[in-house]
Amino acid sequence: MAHSSDATDAPGHKPANFLRGIIERDLEAGTYAQRRFAGSPGDAAHQATGQPDPAKIRTRFPPEPNGYLHIGHAKSICLNFGLARDYGGICHLRFDDTNPEKEEQEYVDAIVDAVKWLGFDWQAGGTDHLYFASDYFEFMYRAAEALIAAGLAYVDEQTPEQMRATRGDFSTPGTNSPYRSRTPEENLARFREMRDGKLPDGAAVLRAKIDMASPNINLRDPALYRIKRATHHNTGDAWCIYPMYTYAHPIEDALENITHSICTLEFEDQRPFYDWLLDKLCDLGLLAQPRPHQYEFARLNLTYVITSKRKLKQLVDEHHVSGWDDPRMPTLVGLRRRGYTPEAIQLFCERIGVSKADSWIDYSTLDVALRDDLEGKAARAMAVLEPVKLKLTNWAEVFGSESHREACSAPAHPQRPELGARRFSLGPEDWIERDDFAETPPKGFFRLFPGNKVRLKYGYVIECTGCEKDTAGQVTAVLAKLVPDTKSGTPGADAVKVKGTITWVGVHDALAAEVRLYDRLFTEAQPDAAGRDFLTVLNPASKKTVTGYLEPSLATAKPDDKFQFERHGYFVADRVDHAPGRPVFNKITGLKDGWAK
Ligand code: ATP
Ligand code: MG
Repeated sequence: MAHSSDATDAPGHKPANFLRGIIERDLEAGTYAQRRFAGSPGDAAHQATGQPDPAKIRTRFPPEPNGYLHIGHAKSICLNFGLARDYGGICHLRFDDTNPEKEEQEYVDAIVDAVKWLGFDWQAGGTDHLYFASDYFEFMYRAAEALIAAGLAYVDEQTPEQMRATRGDFSTPGTNSPYRSRTPEENLARFREMRDGKLPDGAAVLRAKIDMASPNINLRDPALYRIKRATHHNTGDAWCIYPMYTYAHPIEDALENITHSICTLEFEDQRPFYDWLLDKLCDLGLLAQPRPHQYEFARLNLTYVITSKRKLKQLVDEHHVSGWDDPRMPTLVGLRRRGYTPEAIQLFCERIGVSKADSWIDYSTLDVALRDDLEGKAARAMAVLEPVKLKLTNWAEVFGSESHREACSAPAHPQRPELGARRFSLGPEDWIERDDFAETPPKGFFRLFPGNKVRLKYGYVIECTGCEKDTAGQVTAVLAKLVPDTKSGTPGADAVKVKGTITWVGVHDALAAEVRLYDRLFTEAQPDAAGRDFLTVLNPASKKTVTGYLEPSLATAKPDDKFQFERHGYFVADRVDHAPGRPVFNKITGLKDGWAK
């Protein structure tokens, strides 16, 4: 991904949105033109030693490494990396790892992989813009001491219950803590005791001293630091106090020279504190100016999908799915295994756009993007997924011997002759779809029923003569006669007109494969809406495994290879279980319109 394009060639074809408007206005006004960047994150003194920042804007994608990324994160990734790309900026990948308890290296690695897979990177000008918020713990501590010294923060030793009670609510102002009037010296000494492990977990917090009567509850002396003895994945046991997210995040942005800090709407009420904190730390000379600003957009809600890492983790931990990469999961690893492409997900994110109004996006929007991407790319193949045997009873009569095989071929892709041809053959016994035959045809049924003719796609016209059944009355074979001289691609092909064409695979050269047919994981469009327990609306039929018969060209399919199975939809060779000699395919999604009768 190129970061070097000039701001003036921001592509005009991108749909306008309010964030682009803000960025274009800032670029025009030169709001951030004076910034310096010393090549790495740091405080005002550090950045002052740098060159004018080569990045016109800086954005960041700041996941907490406490789970796998999902489709909602993809929206944020495409947005942040996309804006940086389009405006000559740089987007940082930052692990927001200030919470020691839930974070793990496994998740860090998975997130790096997922962002790369989606098609983005954080390399620019020879620098890897991948950062860990925990690397800023020293600075955050120093900033806290500076706030204390300036009389802007205090150590509160009320119990959590007392703090809750004195915070007030929407209609009642809060009341001051008895610890609020401590002197900066007392606060500094006490804060150092917190840091040095002299106080038990939860015994005290550092709070900003703002306004307990503020109409915005987030400004009623929010907590900045808490005591928590926990081993951190990056800093180990170096700290027993940890910064609160609301304190850490603005500082992380400022240290990294972020210009536009884009987050979801639930942080809108935090923006006044974001501004308060950074203004104070700039005034104290600790952070470089101009400082970052926060902008909020509506998170992605996708029907039939859950986008909460905590809930997705529950699905995994309680074995409702096979893992984070279960093809039914909306995680990027799950979508990847299911067969969704990075291009389709990017297209989806572009199409849904960004706004400030919460809404639900229909899942079909993602499938439309997938089809738009794969239609031109995926090779075609025939597959029979609910097989019944077709017996061509006049085979030896027509071809001289029962062992004759009639060679057939089809283009790998109807619009792309350069992809060449697939080869397969017709024999006296072939697999067809069970529902392509009806002993007594319903009205408008044009496929196989006694007396009717259909074309075997890429093969011959056949005429149905009846069927064989077992003692239970179940059809075990469909009987038909081949109509000579009607082979597709020969002069006789049009001699016999038929209304139906069906797909097939020769019994002699069929590749038996495990085919996993997936459906939505939940039966309700908004599985966790209005506090519902999403486990109560799990779809019990979200996965069905069948043995399908595939045309022989699929024997060389490699994991992740995607195909359009004619009439059925898009399928991918499973990246985990598919192996030579043991083919396993996942259904990605069906075709836009069902097979015409
Ligand atoms: P979760 O609730 O699933 O844990 P989160 O917001 O806590 O999500 P983070 O790792 O903190 O997860 O998110 C990283 C970034 O992704 C944040 O900037 C967040 O706003 C964004 N993000 C998360 N979920 C969505 C979503 N559904 N739509 C758009 N952006 C999202
Ligand atoms: Mg979060």
